[in-house]
Amino acid sequence: MNDMKSKLDGAGINTRLAHSGNNPREFHGFVNPPVVHASTVLFPDAHTMETRGQKYSYGTRGTPTSDALADAINALEGSEGTILLPSGLAAVTVPFLAFLSSGDHALIVDSVYGPTRHFCDTMLKRLGIEAEYYDPEIGAGIETLMRPNTKLVHTEAPGSNTFEMQDIGAISAVAHRHGAVVTMDNTWATPLFFRPLDHGVDISIHAATKYPSGHSDVLFGTVSANKECWPRLWDGNFTLGMCAAPDDAYQILRGLRTMGIRLERHQDSALELARWLETRDDVARVLHPALESFPGHEIWKRDFTGASGIFSIVLAAGDPARFKAKAHAFLDALRLFGLGYSWGGFESLAVHVNLSDRTIRKAPTEGPVLRLQIGLEDVADIRKDIEAGLAAAAVV
Ligand SMILES: *Cc1c(COP(=O)(O)O)cnc(C)c1O
Repeated sequence: MNDMKSKLDGAGINTRLAHSGNNPREFHGFVNPPVVHASTVLFPDAHTMETRGQKYSYGTRGTPTSDALADAINALEGSEGTILLPSGLAAVTVPFLAFLSSGDHALIVDSVYGPTRHFCDTMLKRLGIEAEYYDPEIGAGIETLMRPNTKLVHTEAPGSNTFEMQDIGAISAVAHRHGAVVTMDNTWATPLFFRPLDHGVDISIHAATKYPSGHSDVLFGTVSANKECWPRLWDGNFTLGMCAAPDDAYQILRGLRTMGIRLERHQDSALELARWLETRDDVARVLHPALESFPGHEIWKRDFTGASGIFSIVLAAGDPARFKAKAHAFLDALRLFGLGYSWGGFESLAVHVNLSDRTIRKAPTEGPVLRLQIGLEDVADIRKDIEAGLAAAAVV
């Protein structure tokens, strides 16, 4: 690995994406690592077995395939270690279980990914852990919510569906002063556009299902920790018996190779469409942090180095009784966009966002919120499809 690492010192992001992870010289020169399907690993003698005196000892503890991906992610995140999980949601729940105990208090951003909230409100509650939701734009004001038993502060920026920005550095500084661990769901930005650990976060979480996969065919999660939190994260994961399948790990590493150029395209197309949508009278607001008009834009500009391809629009609908009908008319008029959950794949997707679980950042009042994942298609074609959707919504 060492010649590999030095080769990449100071290299650009696409160079690092192309060459991070495995070292071809370790596998007879093959460009890609082997997909190792393994439970049992054999030892040459009893002493080696008893002392686990070799690099690999059992499938759940890692393989050359999982190491190749974890090494690549560590290089991108600047982390000490990375665990690999079978879904993005597991990448949230495993660190929560590793770092929270009965009687603890956790602060969770109100614009959090919906299923994360569900986990907090059901399983964490049953385990005697109290989750309290806070305003995404609270910044250093989170001080007032810290309690002696606050052990974890969970952030996600931009927020799910409505894209509120958070002052991650300010929140991390307060949390650390009170001895709490800071986690961040960084799925939207990927480590290419934001590196959480550089801003004080202890644990960076990704639904690799999205951009690292890139093709809507793999479910995967990664969790990367700094030096202080890595032993506990690793131990929690091993204790729970979680690990990811080798074929999926291989596909995610494969996806990383092209993620940089895919993201450039997602970013450019999405921003072009967002700027166009902003000029339209039938769109009340465009929720995209890279737009100058967006309330969290200054934080995005200060901390992030790019924007990915998912944002939302709020239709100018007038009567709340017509929100749902307008949203459905928009969706049903789309031909290119698929109606489906998740994002980060090559194809455009649209969904009518449900914000009924919010306790602080309630749904916009101007109209329904439609989330658009902008795919790799030609932007003129995507625009035509959105125009058809808006035309259909206008006559409802
Ligand atoms: C999709 C998503 C997840 C969950 O990923 P899955 O692989 O679908 O479980 C977690 N966090 C965010 C922000 C997501 O968008």
